Amino acid sequence: MNFLEKYGDLIVKVGINIQPGQTLVISSPIETAEFARMLSIRAYEAGAREVVMRWIDEQSTKIRYDWAVHEVFDEVPEWIQSFFNQYAMKDAAFISISASDPELMKHVDPKRISRQNKAMNLALSTYRSRMMSNKNTWCVISVPTEAWAKKVFPEANTKDAVDQLWEAIYKAVRADWKDPIEAWKDHQKSLNLRTDFLNKNKFKALKYNNSLGTDLSIDLPDGHIWFGGGDEGPQGQVFFANMPTEEVFTMPKKDGANGKLFSSLPLNYNGNLIENFWFEFKEGVVVDFGASAGADALQELLNTDEGAKRLGEVALVPYDSPISNQKILFFNTLFDENASCHFALGKAYPTCIEGGESMTPEELDQAGANDSLIHVDFMIGTEDLQITGIRQDGSEVPVFLNGNFAI
Ligand code: ZN
Ligand code: ZN
Repeated sequence: MNFLEKYGDLIVKVGINIQPGQTLVISSPIETAEFARMLSIRAYEAGAREVVMRWIDEQSTKIRYDWAVHEVFDEVPEWIQSFFNQYAMKDAAFISISASDPELMKHVDPKRISRQNKAMNLALSTYRSRMMSNKNTWCVISVPTEAWAKKVFPEANTKDAVDQLWEAIYKAVRADWKDPIEAWKDHQKSLNLRTDFLNKNKFKALKYNNSLGTDLSIDLPDGHIWFGGGDEGPQGQVFFANMPTEEVFTMPKKDGANGKLFSSLPLNYNGNLIENFWFEFKEGVVVDFGASAGADALQELLNTDEGAKRLGEVALVPYDSPISNQKILFFNTLFDENASCHFALGKAYPTCIEGGESMTPEELDQAGANDSLIHVDFMIGTEDLQITGIRQDGSEVPVFLNGNFAI
């Protein structure tokens, strides 16, 4: 098997772990059609009932943003809603190929994008909440496109840039290992050691410090659970929602963040690059923020709803990992978030608290889980990041020393 076949195999068997008789929905940019077709064949070979293709053309999306009448950005047609919600209700698996041009939407009115996203997230709330509580299996992966590769490797010609991005992706997902499927089993074991340590300590708070100026304390709710690597699907099948994944994560308490937090990598938010940004939190809410570029897009993001100004995820990623060791800025959250400790603004994963999957929205709120139409990860990890865990009795335990796990 060549790398490409190994990668396809890894996605179908380990990433989405397709089950015989299951329907698979693949969302793919038109530029990555060839890879998506290869995936669909692999999925049929593994017993898929049907593979449904949803093609995305970001250039057409941009033309629509530039030209369409403004009301359409508050609308989502019924058929799009039915498409996602119905396949989700029928236990389909969802693969999405994330490969956008990081700068395509630079000159698009950020208000149009945020209105469209808000309308979309509302319309697809059934689908979204099923994904976020693992009632469906899903997997986000990446394949190079020319525009994306040129942004990551601006010095190289287009062909070389694409080849280099492929190589970087293979390394990041361990497809360059002799037996990638075995490699993922070992990877899972090392993630388990970390989640076991964190779950045993039941920290009530984490304190973050680094030389960028981050000085933040976040509370963790009672009964929070740390996860990493594979998730369990509805039939007990293990799947990986992200490939690659290096993080262990849980939910913070929605009103427990206090202090200053500085980003360590730019954030590509819907084709807008937000750079050198920071937040100041008071009792969980962003009370002040700044950015050297993309401040408008960041403002729109925070204005989505009440929960968009609060944290919904805390994730720990060592500075020393197969992604961050490549020292490449991918301009794609799937990779950059797995190279760096991060947080997410917006909705918390209900599975990150004991019994969360079966709690009502009110019960989740009471337990300290944040809710929002958005969930956007942003990176804050640095080589000198220190994280200290505070136990229930007030004693302190080093969790991160100089950017890496202290355990
Ligand atoms: Zn994350
Ligand atoms: Zn996240």
